[in-house]
Order: sequence, then structure tokens, then C-alpha cells
Amino acid sequence: MRLVFATHNAGKLREVKELIGHKYEVIGLSELGDHEDIPENEPTLEGNALFKARTIWNKYGIACFSDDTGLEVDALGGAPGVISARYAGEAKDPQANMDKVLSALDSAKKRSAQFRTAVALILDGKEFVFEGIVRGHIATERQGNKGFGYDPIFIPDGYDRSFAQMDNAEKNSMSHRGRAIAKLVDFLV
Ligand code: IMP
Repeated sequence: MRLVFATHNAGKLREVKELIGHKYEVIGLSELGDHEDIPENEPTLEGNALFKARTIWNKYGIACFSDDTGLEVDALGGAPGVISARYAGEAKDPQANMDKVLSALDSAKKRSAQFRTAVALILDGKEFVFEGIVRGHIATERQGNKGFGYDPIFIPDGYDRSFAQMDNAEKNSMSHRGRAIAKLVDFLV
């Protein structure tokens, strides 16, 4: 079965294909020849994920899913949360975003945080939402250069390495997106 993943993010597409590529033919928006940027203006991760999936469903009528992820830092009241991509401005610069989190926490003792992903699926016009969470803490400086986004500053609970020091398979085995996609796969099979 063919499933459209409503994303232009090559890093996420690669991760998700590794997770479900053998069971379903997952294609990204670029492979569909669709280069439109779908806005993420909803107040919640779930709202953004549903909006993106509805946009593709309404346009093509193809089974599709989308995700929205936020880094939620406890000492910052859950920020950057739903505005994680634009935390340091519209340029969506991951380096500036990480700098802003690091300086907001400065010498904070409480550095606990989580990544949370909402995945929205539309199948035959019906909508379903799945959530995945990984708890961890924010490092005091960047560690590693794999992955993308906030990976260099996020250390999952039970590890002393950041997501950017893990290969895709190790990150996927515990990540927020891995967990949300696992729920999606359980639902689909
Ligand atoms: P979105 O879900 O693509 O809108 O991502 C929102 C923000 O979270 C962006 O700044 C991404 O770079 C970041 N992000 C999403 N997933 C991950 C991840 O797995 N690791 C690190 N950062 C992520």
C-alpha cells in the first residue's frame, strides 16, 4: 500500500522509511512532485499534524499521514513546544534554535525535557492521531553531528550520549517519532 508522508524534511523521511518502508511504500511530498510548503500555524502539535494531513487528503485523496514534533523543556514551561522550528525566528535555523534553548537554560539545574510527536493519519477520509514521547534532558553544550534539529543537545533518559551521537537505528528505537510511528504501524497491520 502506498502512503504519502506529508513532509519535505529529508531527514524525517529517511527515518520514517526505515521504520515502515518495508511494509508500506512511503513517499514524501517531493516524490509526489508537490513542492508547496504547508503552513504550521495551529496552536497544538496535533492541530498542525491534522492540518497537514487534511491538506494532502483534500488535494489528492490518497492515504496520508503527517507529523509535528516539539521539544518541550520543563523549566521553560514546555517551550519551545509547538513553535520549535521557529523558536529563534522565521529563518528556522537549527543552530540559532539550539543557542536560544541553551542560553534560556544557562546554568539551570533542572534541564529535563521531552520530545513529543503527534502523527495524524487519514485513511478513507477517517482521521486518527498517535502520540510518541521520549523523556531526557538538555545537554550543557552540543554533542555529536548526526541527526538534525535539536538532536545535538538532547540526551534521552538512560543514556549519556545525545541523539546526534547515535545512528538512525539507535535513535529510532526510542525516539518520539519512532514511538508514534510504531503506534501507526500497529494500527495499520
Ligand atoms: P517539525 O515537526 O518538522 O515541524 O519540527 C519542529 C522542530 O523540531 C524543528 O525545529 C525540527 O528541527 C525539530 N525536530 C523535529 N524532530 C526532531 C528530532 O527528531 N530531533 C531533533 N529535532 C527535531
